[in-house]
Amino acid sequence: MRISGRLVLVALAIAALVAGIGAGAALAWPDVPNPGPTSIVKDGWPWVSSSAVTGEEKADLVLTNGVVYTVDEDRTSAEAVAIRGDTIVFVGSSTDAADWIGDGTKVIDLAGRLVLPGLIDSHAHATSGVSDLYEVPLYGIGSVEEYQQTIADFIAARPGLVALQGGGWINSVFGEHGPTVAMLDAVCADIPAALYSEDYHSVWVNSKTLELAGVTAATADPEGGVIERDADGNPSGTLRESAVDLITDVIPAYTTEQLVEGLTYFQDFAHSLGLTTVYIPSLPSGDAAGLQALHDFDASGAMAIRFPTAMNVEPTDDVSIVDKIVAARTAEKGGLYEIVAAKIFMDGVLEGMTAYLEEPYDIRPDYRGELLWDPQAYNRMCAALDKAGIQIHVHSIGDASTRITLDGFAYARGQNGERDARNMITHLQLVNQADIPRFADLGVVAVPQPYWFVVDTYYTQAVEYVGRERADKQYPMKAFFDAGVTVASASDYPVSWPPDPMLAIEIGVTRTVPAGCEIYVDPDYDTALNPAECVTVEQMIESFTINGARAIFKENEIGSLEVGKKADLVVLSQNILEVDPGRIHETTALLTYFAGEEVYRAEGFIE
Ligand SMILES: [Zn+2]
Repeated sequence: MRISGRLVLVALAIAALVAGIGAGAALAWPDVPNPGPTSIVKDGWPWVSSSAVTGEEKADLVLTNGVVYTVDEDRTSAEAVAIRGDTIVFVGSSTDAADWIGDGTKVIDLAGRLVLPGLIDSHAHATSGVSDLYEVPLYGIGSVEEYQQTIADFIAARPGLVALQGGGWINSVFGEHGPTVAMLDAVCADIPAALYSEDYHSVWVNSKTLELAGVTAATADPEGGVIERDADGNPSGTLRESAVDLITDVIPAYTTEQLVEGLTYFQDFAHSLGLTTVYIPSLPSGDAAGLQALHDFDASGAMAIRFPTAMNVEPTDDVSIVDKIVAARTAEKGGLYEIVAAKIFMDGVLEGMTAYLEEPYDIRPDYRGELLWDPQAYNRMCAALDKAGIQIHVHSIGDASTRITLDGFAYARGQNGERDARNMITHLQLVNQADIPRFADLGVVAVPQPYWFVVDTYYTQAVEYVGRERADKQYPMKAFFDAGVTVASASDYPVSWPPDPMLAIEIGVTRTVPAGCEIYVDPDYDTALNPAECVTVEQMIESFTINGARAIFKENEIGSLEVGKKADLVVLSQNILEVDPGRIHETTALLTYFAGEEVYRAEGFIE
């Protein structure tokens, strides 16, 4: 689900990045200064003491002469890591690491660079990767001619295309009645086209789409929707709100093969950002192609990322859905793709005035938003899922919604007894302070999207909708850490694009727009959002590593660099623990290892 086209940070030139990754090419690489061996020594850091080595068995790979931030219990640092097969066999000093080097050992001299555990995104719609490949991006374009040129180029590069999909155009370029059929027919006449506006509330179509959908001058506007029309009453090319539904069946669904292609693209993209585990938060239980694609990709042996996945549970589902999820969980157990949870949408979004609030919206004093579940039905579903040992992953934006979400977890505990459930609540835009300790009491994982912790147009809109006082308390994070809650960060890709943890780490620390990000052009955005909630770089790293592992019950397997754990790790271009926090977003992944295998190497990086 894309929340109204919230593309946060596009400074990295979307088109170039998509093209580069999609074609399997590496990113263009700026020269990486060699920080030199002196930066390894950092006074006052706890250092891992070297472990005893028999010397009998050698490692396949030794990374040496670096700064290895282990994210172990004591947050110790080391200089070297040795890996055999898919497992870490040694963490310690470069001197001791030498004992693990034999004739067949590959040795990488890190020259003082930082190594972190493979990063974990705890909520990203990886199955949307197919959209990056097959949907034309129209974001950031300011004229009809440019839209047409972009569309024409996109189609020309994809000879077999059977339908044109995309999004990102803005109403202000076209005037009151939106873009027209003629503008689109000029560049796309033979196949149906459906191009969504940036806010996803309108769709721009061509003649072919109208013809296939049977939408004519005689078609009445549906309830809650508008068909824009010319002077003669003919549909002019823009359908708004519920009128969008008139054409959705005309666009063929992606095939399983296309979805696998999208997952493959996403995996490469993730590796290039240092991600080795990505939690897929919502797959409709009826999305047979999506589930099949994940299964097929894993079965093919080409999957080199962990994809814990949640299956959607809708308010209209009865409790028999629990059996379906249990069956899917059993079927996929032990794979890199696993069904681990049920996903529940509790409310909508603030900018759509559908987030469910304790106090009314300022601009609608009689209205508190939309709760998507009847609380009793939700409680019963929670209890049934909990009884089956299924983790519950809830979308909740409003404070009232989050309270009811927690009530359901408490109800399940009351019914079934205390269990290490690790239920997750994500987004958490407005949260009642009094509810924060309940996360800790109930063992709930908080899953924020730090990419959104900035003063931008969404903030301006929040001020308008709910008033400055509430807008200024948006997106708590430090409060969760202070209360002892497990905080696991996430991008909500494709809502945040690119899903680069370095952007999120910087914003989590500064809560300010990173310098040079083009989408934020308003100089007023140069202030921090709710600065009392700024956290440390160390906490941000935790939220992208060990806490993400804990969220999927794999803290003994991944999430830190310790002997016996899987060798998932990333080498970064600079030490984010040392640089000015305002420059963390400039950091890039140089090398990514998944289970001991090199899965990404930045172009131009030679150790
Ligand atoms: Zn999401």
